[in-house]
Amino acid sequence: MGIGANQEERASLSERMRAEIRGLPAVERAEIDESLHRMQWNESAYDFPADLKEEVLQQLAARAWSRYPLALRPFRLTDALARTLGVEPNQIVAAGGSSEVIRVVMSALLGAGDAVVMPTPTFLLYRRYARMLGARICEIQLHAADDFALPVDSMIEAARAEQARAVVLCAPNNPTGTVYAQADVARLAAGCACAVVIDEAYLEFSGQELLPLVETHPNIILIRTFSKAYRMAGVRVGYAVAAAEVAAQLQKGVNSFALSVFQEVVAEVALAHAHRFADGVAEVIAERERLAAGLRALPGVIVFGSGTNFLLVQPACDVKALIRHLLEVERVLVSDNGGYAELAGMLRVTVGTPEENDMVLRGFAACCRD
Ligand code: PMP
Repeated sequence: MGIGANQEERASLSERMRAEIRGLPAVERAEIDESLHRMQWNESAYDFPADLKEEVLQQLAARAWSRYPLALRPFRLTDALARTLGVEPNQIVAAGGSSEVIRVVMSALLGAGDAVVMPTPTFLLYRRYARMLGARICEIQLHAADDFALPVDSMIEAARAEQARAVVLCAPNNPTGTVYAQADVARLAAGCACAVVIDEAYLEFSGQELLPLVETHPNIILIRTFSKAYRMAGVRVGYAVAAAEVAAQLQKGVNSFALSVFQEVVAEVALAHAHRFADGVAEVIAERERLAAGLRALPGVIVFGSGTNFLLVQPACDVKALIRHLLEVERVLVSDNGGYAELAGMLRVTVGTPEENDMVLRGFAACCRD
């Protein structure tokens, strides 16, 4: 925009942006008060271990920051991932956070007018990217009454009827926490001719391992992240695993040098110390079950089953008042599931430290009386 451009010119440029972009909600400025207990975004309550941070910093100090990484792709990381997972390196596509991997996968599969089938509620980014690409979104409703089970037949039917290019699901699901039956996921993949994208952001907390399905169902694309179990949400590393031919196509949509030297080194160090993070995951699972049991013991509180690091909870009391109480009295932030009308009356709480979980229990106990 040149000097002297007036209001009208600016408005008209904004109007020339694609309708799919203009249709999306604005990205508002919002900052989080760091003094709050942040239990709204499914991050790890514990930071990346201090001694491993030290190891990262030492490696980074020895690297030239003036140079691009040594290859267009982070081969050292993808080789290490391949060894860990027991797949070929060319089956892995890494990028800056699984959010970026989701964008790469969706834009490789969907163009204007193409149909994509997904359950609802699920992670909102899928809907957002599908909209941005001008795709037709066929949402299949999940129901609290049957514990948000995967509606396999309806999804297969919709994929066939709409000649969908992709079916998307999160396993376990966010925001419900649901672990779908493995047989259901396999039946869905077998019943769909199109790509089946499975987001495993929370896999480590679920005890479910869907990686073998990539071998038996070559239409599956798995999406994973270092943000949750590896406590690296601030670092931004994610990856996809798929058949080598599929991964080669996805790779074309990834920026060159998609990971900074920092991102790659942190992920390498994390992988090399995977057992440390596995111990942390076991603690989160134990705390999740303690928190769930404590909440279920309160009058009228329903806690849905979860294979993640968070719980979806339906209290009998006024949920808005409860969220306000948690914020103002306990200084705990939880998610009101803002984007999902069908989850009105429920809230989502990330498993925190034992002390933070006690704050949540105390807040619920104060609001959820007979
Ligand atoms: N997938 C799911 C299901 C998620 O819940 C999230 C974040 N909460 C992401 C992907 C994105 O994670 P990231 O971009 O940090 O890898």
